[in-house]
Amino acid sequence: MHALVPPPGAPKGQPLLAERLARAITLGGPIPVGQFMAAANAHYYATRDPLGVGGDFTTSPEISQMFGELIGAWAADLWDRAGRPEVAWVELGPGRGTLTADAVRAMRAAGFTPPIHLVETSPALRRVQAAALPDATWHDDVATLPNDLPLIVVANEFFDVLPIRQLVRGPDGWRERLVACQDTMFLPIAGGAIPPGIMPAALDAAAPGSVVETSPAGVAIMAGLAALIETQGGAMLVIDYGYEGPAVGDTLQAIRGHAYANPFEAPGEQDLTAHVDFATLGLAAEASGCVRSGPVGQGTFLTALGIDARAAALGARVTVDRRRLVEEMGTLFRVMALRHRDWPEPAGFA
Ligand code: SAH
Repeated sequence: MHALVPPPGAPKGQPLLAERLARAITLGGPIPVGQFMAAANAHYYATRDPLGVGGDFTTSPEISQMFGELIGAWAADLWDRAGRPEVAWVELGPGRGTLTADAVRAMRAAGFTPPIHLVETSPALRRVQAAALPDATWHDDVATLPNDLPLIVVANEFFDVLPIRQLVRGPDGWRERLVACQDTMFLPIAGGAIPPGIMPAALDAAAPGSVVETSPAGVAIMAGLAALIETQGGAMLVIDYGYEGPAVGDTLQAIRGHAYANPFEAPGEQDLTAHVDFATLGLAAEASGCVRSGPVGQGTFLTALGIDARAAALGARVTVDRRRLVEEMGTLFRVMALRHRDWPEPAGFA
């Protein structure tokens, strides 16, 4: 194996993630795609703020204040029609904290000032969030969220970073997709056979080489939150790029410097994501008793919430931002809401 040269600024005495993964695979054999993705993203997010022009990618709240403001107004309207109960605001994977900071302004204007809870694993991003939201409470995962209040939960581009499992069609059935390592190159291979009867029959006709994805981590988080909403009340808003599965397709992608890259290269140095299966997430929440709205396109949702009026009020400087949010990100990005059955139907889906 070639020695990998640590990048400038890498902590001394600690082997690079690529080197550690290569050693683990050499010693223990190929690892599932999900394990590779989880290790890569944990390192990636723990060691940097990847958002914005100088980073690797830009998200809707970073494009324009209108995004967080409209979601704050959405939440305030829902809270108002629910009878103004005491509730907690929760954001999953808040990045720089911009969405919640913009939402807080809009909610305060409507007389709604919920306590702020942020679910975030990255110490680097927690520091950035603390500057924007000094009064927030942080959580490592959803298990420690308040258990005595209705929750309004928002997740923008959160589910796409969670590790997926990939299955690849072989000549004789489905196989787990694994990551092997040759010299210092990582590459996907077909691993052990999946027992018959586990994969949806609709996918039986898939051609050899086809890939199907599942998101055990996403489903577990969704089921956990839906169970909280079912007992405590409240609602959840999921915004992400995705599809309604089950469907065939390899959506694992790496983004670095605002361009696509090989997802099996440079683990921990680029953002690994997969498209989100809204149908499966919705079913997981419905199984816990929640009621679903959508998914609808982000363009439809923001237009229904009044982005045109907000953009007109802010003036010509936001014309381009409005177009990016509503048109360029208008259909691949989808919005889905889940709510307690006694809560009112949220705005934006009719
Ligand atoms: N929602 C933000 C940031 C999206 S990037 C925005 O739209 O701008 C993904 C975010 O999820 C980052 O804040 C990242 O640190 C966080 N994250 C990644 N994996 C996580 C996990 N397992 N639990 C909680 N947060 C996670």
